[in-house]
Amino acid sequence: MRDDTYWDKSAETLSRNGIEKLQTGLLTSSLERAAKSKFYAERFKDIGFDAESVSGLADLGLIPFTEKKDLRLSYPYGLLCEPKDRLLRMHISSGTTGQAVAVFYTKADLELWADLVARCMYMAGARPEDTFQNLSGYGLFTGGLGFQYGAERLGMLTIPAGPGNSRRQVQMMRDFSTNVIHIIPSFLLRLMDVMKEMGVDPKKELSLRLAFVGAEPYSEEVRRRLEDFYGVKVYNSYGLSEMNGPGVAFECPYQTGMHIWEDAYIAEIIDPNTLKPVPDGQYGELVMTTLKREAMPILRYRTRDLTRILPGECGCGRVHKRIDRIRGRTDDMFIIKGVNIFPIQVEQVLMSVPEVGNNYQIVLTRENNVDDMIVRVEVTDRVFVEDMRVLERIRKKITYEMKNELLVTPKVDLVEPNSLPGTEGKALRLIDQRAV
Ligand code: ADP
Ligand code: ZN
Repeated sequence: MRDDTYWDKSAETLSRNGIEKLQTGLLTSSLERAAKSKFYAERFKDIGFDAESVSGLADLGLIPFTEKKDLRLSYPYGLLCEPKDRLLRMHISSGTTGQAVAVFYTKADLELWADLVARCMYMAGARPEDTFQNLSGYGLFTGGLGFQYGAERLGMLTIPAGPGNSRRQVQMMRDFSTNVIHIIPSFLLRLMDVMKEMGVDPKKELSLRLAFVGAEPYSEEVRRRLEDFYGVKVYNSYGLSEMNGPGVAFECPYQTGMHIWEDAYIAEIIDPNTLKPVPDGQYGELVMTTLKREAMPILRYRTRDLTRILPGECGCGRVHKRIDRIRGRTDDMFIIKGVNIFPIQVEQVLMSVPEVGNNYQIVLTRENNVDDMIVRVEVTDRVFVEDMRVLERIRKKITYEMKNELLVTPKVDLVEPNSLPGTEGKALRLIDQRAV
């Protein structure tokens, strides 16, 4: 029998000292393995870096960073450290920000990955008697197979539903009494409208208990909306293909940030300009190092994800560091009228207005050298049938709230529910039409 609180008690209850000792040993072997790849062999040689000069975590700063462009330039095999006959799987990142990156796994890598995903789900309360529906893309995207293997490892009946087919998803949830789901936030928002159309009240007719939601940024306001509508607990799930996929960081039942599994990764937060580490509590770019990966170790990877380490200890007793909700990627930030804005800030304002529906889009335009931000916002069904004066009042309210929070006055366009384009994958929140 497993301990009821922990999936992997010895790993999850490591002390700070225990984590550091473990990391020190693993870092040395990860460096040795990495040096076998063409990419790291050349990089180390070019900069005159001797992997043996790293004797502990204090020397982490000596190790060069790895950037997304390094992975792209080394596509497909440049970071591979194992002969092909030891490989079992490859995935490709969803390519949200440009050319894709290929990631390879040995048998041990797949085992470890499944175990980490199972650990995350178990921590949040999933158990073998649950029925798990995975509404994530299967195939090259890591969210499908990553959760599939993790859920099977945990022992849940797993429905590989994949994305799309909204009505059928709801039907399956009902027919099989699905109680745990994994889904991206924009799709779970869209399913709210689908259920309303179908006349399904999830609180009464479905058995949903846990929703693992991640793969793209979403705000606390969206979490609240989802929890209220579905009657579920939403757990934030973070991962990226370069670090296996999902299972990198996850919320525990205390839901104060996501624990990064430090027995498998080293996490740092750096200032993206100076590249120096920032103190806990301060926002910066997350940098990750794999400690156990065989096929493709990656050192000090600049994720471009902006977050911070939450100081202090978590009530759950796990000392694995916690990261705050991801604010966005460094490249998501846009500048309008001299103000730096992340799409998530726009979402926060929108989603706290009750008349706002479940989809929105930000469009940046430039005319006669003047930049404008247009925010297209779906309103709820109830509002749309009401008269123009009501709509105008809502439009003004949103404009006012935006101006207050973001210091920029957008043009707000209210549109019908379900009229903005949806995608099967990650939502496209920002369309920048300004010529560069
Ligand atoms: P791509 O970078 O092409 O989207 P991935 O599918 O590997 O490829 O996605 C990983 C990225 O997704 C992360 O680097 C991060 O930007 C985003 N992401 C993953 N989980 C979350 C989350 N819980 N909150 C916000 N963003 C997330
Ligand atoms: Zn915790």
